[in-house]
Amino acid sequence: MPETGPTPADWAAAEALIRELPPDGRVLLICHVNPDGDALGSMLGFGLGLRRLGVRRMQATFPGPPEVPEPFRGLPGLDLLVPATEAYPDPDLVICFDAASESRLGELVDRLDTAGAALVLDHHASNTRFGGVHLVDPRAAATSVVAEQLLARCGVPLDAGIAECFYVALTTDTGSFRFDATTPEVHQLAARLLATGIRPGEISRRVFDTRPFGAVRLFGEVLGRARLEPAAAAGRGLVWTWATLDDLARHDQRAYVLEALIDSVRCTAEADVSCVLKQTAPGEWAVSMRSKGAVDVSRVAVALGGGGHRFAAGFTGRGAAEEVVAAIRGQLDTALIPTAVG
Ligand code: AMP
Ligand code: MN
Ligand code: MN
Repeated sequence: MPETGPTPADWAAAEALIRELPPDGRVLLICHVNPDGDALGSMLGFGLGLRRLGVRRMQATFPGPPEVPEPFRGLPGLDLLVPATEAYPDPDLVICFDAASESRLGELVDRLDTAGAALVLDHHASNTRFGGVHLVDPRAAATSVVAEQLLARCGVPLDAGIAECFYVALTTDTGSFRFDATTPEVHQLAARLLATGIRPGEISRRVFDTRPFGAVRLFGEVLGRARLEPAAAAGRGLVWTWATLDDLARHDQRAYVLEALIDSVRCTAEADVSCVLKQTAPGEWAVSMRSKGAVDVSRVAVALGGGGHRFAAGFTGRGAAEEVVAAIRGQLDTALIPTAVG
């Protein structure tokens, strides 16, 4: 998979799509299904930037139910959002954010064909290069890094609204600057975003450190049933747990609260690989995987029909939870990263 970023020709093509948009051109922004902080943050921040450029006819959307997870309900630019059912059927330009493959666009995938042009902003190494013009940079810590660069090239200055969106995206995908993706460039971008006057403490509390009491108790239950398999992944260890729709219902919680669960599970010292199965329908699971560095979990995810990054990936699992974990276990050995010698 290519580890290089966009070429000068890619940047020029993307900039031309934005600059040559007719004054009444309709722009449709789409981010991936079950949007996270980077999906929503990069999309809404870029949308606010386009607005500053004078784009008036613009919608932002994502596939599935039009529900924004509570942690992101304070994001600037939410007024751009429309339900997928109301999205322009044939926009002049469609721009996709943080989606590694067409399948992540759900029912909105047809816009790639009906739109006048399609631009893809992403940072997944597993990006399938769908759409027309690609700005895919696997070295970028978040899609918002790519989005900010394109806005800068189009001459749009950062303001507090754009900055808050990009800051949420950047902190989400870097684990609040804890992951190896946290390069000097990431901190330089964070500095530019903070210089607009946004409040990092308030934003982080809202996005990461607030959850309903029912979710606290639900986490207790789900963490209490976690399984540790020290022999898995050639002795590197696997820890996993699962949460069902019934668990959510009993604690009166929405599915998005489970997105933070993997961060508690992956703390396990005795396991390199961690995994959370989140039931989405009977016999269907949204699977999250993380690795501390011994296993390329994106290989596991791609082998099982999903995608992601080396150390954070996911897929849709089918069958009983035990069967899904058996499928993962079966892929772990081939996904071991050879240790560097010398
Ligand atoms: P998550 O565990 O949901 O936070 O996702 C971790 C990474 O895996 C993200 O970069 C996602 O884009 C990717 N990912 C998660 N689920 C899927 C899926 N069903 N198909 C493709 N990529 C996925
Ligand atoms: Mn994402
Ligand atoms: Mn991302």
